[in-house]
Amino acid sequence: MVYKKEDYIEDFNEGWCPGCGNFGIREACLRAFENLQLDPNKTVVVSGIGCSGKGALYYKVFVAHTLHGRTLPVAIGLKLANPELNVIVHSGDGDCYGIGVEHFVSTGRYNPDITLVVFDNSVYALTKGQASPTLKRGEKLKSLPAPNIKDAINPIGIALLSGYNYIAQGYAFNIEHLSNLIAGAIKHKGLSLVNVKQPCITYDDIHTKDFYQNALFYINNILILTKDLDKPIKVGIVKREFSNHKIGELVIIENEEQEKNCYVMEFKKANEAVILPKEKAEELLKKECARKIKEEDFYDEYIAFSIAKLMLNIPIIGKIYERKESKTYEERIAYNIESYFAYPPAKQIICDEEGNPTTDIRKILDSFIV
Ligand code: SF4
Repeated sequence: MVYKKEDYIEDFNEGWCPGCGNFGIREACLRAFENLQLDPNKTVVVSGIGCSGKGALYYKVFVAHTLHGRTLPVAIGLKLANPELNVIVHSGDGDCYGIGVEHFVSTGRYNPDITLVVFDNSVYALTKGQASPTLKRGEKLKSLPAPNIKDAINPIGIALLSGYNYIAQGYAFNIEHLSNLIAGAIKHKGLSLVNVKQPCITYDDIHTKDFYQNALFYINNILILTKDLDKPIKVGIVKREFSNHKIGELVIIENEEQEKNCYVMEFKKANEAVILPKEKAEELLKKECARKIKEEDFYDEYIAFSIAKLMLNIPIIGKIYERKESKTYEERIAYNIESYFAYPPAKQIICDEEGNPTTDIRKILDSFIV
């Protein structure tokens, strides 16, 4: 049987605001499911609480709409019970990087073969626009009485440190690009994260569609410094309009006014990832101080960290990191229990005729201790 996109769609009114970035993410997931020909009977979408959480009910696959911040433990449980399942998690930035951040970190240690898609819009949208963990310090959305006084979390950096081995960032309205990232994450054996920048048109008047139109950078436009520079370069991304510079524009910092109105980064060391205005980039390429990001760079943790640092200030999209050889949690269990893949808990008879439980997961529990 050949599955079409429509085979994964449930007729359900999710109640999102018209024009919300969530629609783009869902469309990208549907295309990825079709592209990979996922069997709906072996696919489960797990979601948490928030606007992102509501959307899972729209899929005609198995769905678990869980508690706030608890998507990942439920997803791990499902995968362990039935390792044949394709497990895709939908979580919001508040859900995953706020209340659920402990699970976000600890799941990296397990490395289950699941895919986490985070709807990152910098606000707690369902509860009317409070600052979420990815909102930068000093930003004031229309729903906030004053600028945000907390620093933003760096989910890509945390994922790298925690053991995620496929890490990407996409944009909700570049659907084809995002769909490819999500398909890559599902295909990847092991734990994968796709963080998706998603405009909340109702509560976020800063990170709008227009903002992203100007501010997005594709990973293949980034350079890596190959030598230390004679003197550091300061580069700024405009955070509030000044002179004739627009939000999201890239400038070389030369004076105080530019410094005040931009997110500023300084580059000087070899192996640092760097984004520069075109002329400066060409100058460095000619001097052989830099090279463009290539496919093989995605396996280099140092470069991935460098890009993660840049991402605090610039919405960079693309695949950032992939490590292929790494044992999944399921494989580690099978190493201790040979029969695990052939006879996981989901294939065991769960009760006798009188309803007494018969499933024996003691061996699996024992394997946690080994
Ligand atoms: Fe989307 Fe924001 Fe509306 Fe939620 S409140 S559905 S995130 S636009």
